[in-house]
Amino acid sequence: MRKALLLIVLFFGVTACKTNPFTGKSTLNFYPNSQIFPMAFAQYDQFLEENKVVDSGAEANMITAVGQRIASAAERWLTANGYPGYLKDYQWEYNLVQDETVNAWCMPGGKIVFYTGILPICQGETGVAVVMGHEVAHALADHGAQRMSAGMLQQIGAVGVAVAVDDPEKRNAYMQAYGLGSTVGGMLPFSRSHETEADRIGLQIMAIAGYNPDEAAELWKRMKAQGGQAPPEFLSTHPSNETRIANLTEWAPLAKEEARKFGVTTFR
Ligand SMILES: [Zn+2]
Repeated sequence: MRKALLLIVLFFGVTACKTNPFTGKSTLNFYPNSQIFPMAFAQYDQFLEENKVVDSGAEANMITAVGQRIASAAERWLTANGYPGYLKDYQWEYNLVQDETVNAWCMPGGKIVFYTGILPICQGETGVAVVMGHEVAHALADHGAQRMSAGMLQQIGAVGVAVAVDDPEKRNAYMQAYGLGSTVGGMLPFSRSHETEADRIGLQIMAIAGYNPDEAAELWKRMKAQGGQAPPEFLSTHPSNETRIANLTEWAPLAKEEARKFGVTTFR
């Protein structure tokens, strides 16, 4: 029994590893985009139906404009680094919802929501780019799918993977692990290493998009000052605000260096 489980784990461990272009690391991921994205897109549409979307005005336009620049920067980076088709299944969408919660997220496949509650902390377009870069980075690095895969390894038992994803009850659990479904507004926190990775990747993308990466540390100082109201995605413990601010300060010049490779030398 134990041996069979080990074999299953080894099998999927070998076949389900995927190299993350942003880190060069091999990561565990059982779920192909073709399986995850349709679920995410349906959940996103449902979320938009159940929440108040701000569909016009300067703020909504700003979210879209920043999102398009970030998406285009990610595309350029991936193409330049040998991953030209990486985003082919993405269907980018950017929405602002009327909600005082300090939050923002990007679902698998590029479905983004900003809450109006985070805008005062962003203080404008560059701050929005900091948050957008970070959230998009979680999606690009498949952090949700990895979290699902880790959860599945714990629960796999004698049940095959194909059976597990066909079981509606189990699928629900995975969708929760992914931050999909009714809990989407209160997504589970990512791990510390995923947060750090998203910070680093996000910084690079925002710089290539022409936004000043020095602003990232400033944004997190404001987030820290805002105190304990933050939802899981912005919990101060993942990682600690001090570590995060120190990292972002250290990495900002490297992000500018990366942007220069793309001909970007001035930052707004
Ligand atoms: Zn995050």
